[in-house]
Amino acid sequence: MTYTKEAIKQEVKENRVEFILLEFTDMLGDTKNVELPAEELDMILNDEAMFDSSSISGFSEIQESDMYLVPDLDTFLILPSLVDEDRSARFICDIYKTDGTPFEGDPRYILKRAMKEAEEMGYTVNVGPEPEFFLFKLDENGYPIREMNDRGGYFDASPIDKGDKVRRDIVRTLKKFGFEMEASHHEVAMGQHEINFRFDNMLKTADNIQTFKSVVKDIATNHSYHATFMPKPFSGENGSGMHCHLSLFKDGDSAFYDEDAKDGVSKTMKQFIAGILHHADGITAITNPNVNSYKRLVPGYEAPVSVAWSHSNRSCMIRVPNTRGKGTRFEVRNPDPTANPYLTLAVLIHAGLDGIRNELDAGEAESRNLYEVTDDSVPTLPTNLKEAIQALKKDELLMNALGDHTSQAYVDDKQQEWTEYSLRVSSWEIHRYMNK
Ligand code: GLU
Ligand code: MG
Ligand code: MG
Repeated sequence: MTYTKEAIKQEVKENRVEFILLEFTDMLGDTKNVELPAEELDMILNDEAMFDSSSISGFSEIQESDMYLVPDLDTFLILPSLVDEDRSARFICDIYKTDGTPFEGDPRYILKRAMKEAEEMGYTVNVGPEPEFFLFKLDENGYPIREMNDRGGYFDASPIDKGDKVRRDIVRTLKKFGFEMEASHHEVAMGQHEINFRFDNMLKTADNIQTFKSVVKDIATNHSYHATFMPKPFSGENGSGMHCHLSLFKDGDSAFYDEDAKDGVSKTMKQFIAGILHHADGITAITNPNVNSYKRLVPGYEAPVSVAWSHSNRSCMIRVPNTRGKGTRFEVRNPDPTANPYLTLAVLIHAGLDGIRNELDAGEAESRNLYEVTDDSVPTLPTNLKEAIQALKKDELLMNALGDHTSQAYVDDKQQEWTEYSLRVSSWEIHRYMNK
């Protein structure tokens, strides 16, 4: 939906909106917002909403902390009231500095830069994400406990599946948010669920992922559950991924489909895949951003472990589904839903375009089950956050994709996270070594 300022003013008046939420995403992928009374709408639309960014992760230094929240008018939405009769509206915002230029550490800006690069090569990219999540029970004080909401498994039906009503409520709400909803179902692990929504361009998809996560959490709370997008809440069970399906277009036609090719896949698509495989280790630092992310990327749980591509194999980082024609696409399987979606899509695009530019070779599709390949014939994804960050630091293309500000701030933040983690003694270690 494209709005003019006048149309927005009219909507706010007609709907008797009381509060306006200005939303944005920090470096670590968390949605932040500040709420203003609707009387401030003119000021907001004049791009004059200032905020102190010094406490936002990955944003500015204390000496330059004043920044502006500039509303993206296309993201205006009267919010369906989730809890009570609050009448509020939201904008997703871009971040600007006091000199009137965009803040280079704004994840949305970083994604827009990647999109511009694709456009300059004549391409547009569509992305369909598949975020998975767990529902946990709450204690009497409303805090999550480590017990899933049900004992269901893949595609289980009610009453084994106790998430059906929550999922329906989420789907209903997201429709009111303008989402085009697709299938939803119980996932493999107990208490694990998946809800799909339609692909869109990269910016819209990244915005949608953030809205999706907020709605899932809010609705779960309304049903007295806690929703978590944590990648691996239980060892020995499937974790939660956020596979991303990518398709590429030039002059309105799929740049990934080639009807003359034996497998229907164009050379451009194979080069794009090769670019992502070439930069896989550094990409993983963004797509799998925390210590827990790497406990998901292990053999046996439908999560990828290998830097390889295949037509059907879930152990590979990239899988090419059977659809051809306009729907020709590939699925990147390593991202998890704690990744910052703006940065994730930005690094994937930069890497893919690098593959096209340098005519990289993706090699043959992998047909073996790589969970069972134990020799070194196929490279593996980084096995922990430290390895991933080290790879990112060495990857000039990805560091440039993030820009000076964010690449530095991200590496610093994640190195600190790794240090904090490695200083802890876990209960596994106590159990294993106490009798030594
Ligand atoms: N939950 C699996 C993962 O960690 C994916 C299952 C699926 O293929 O949908 O990626
Ligand atoms: Mg799934
Ligand atoms: Mg999938």
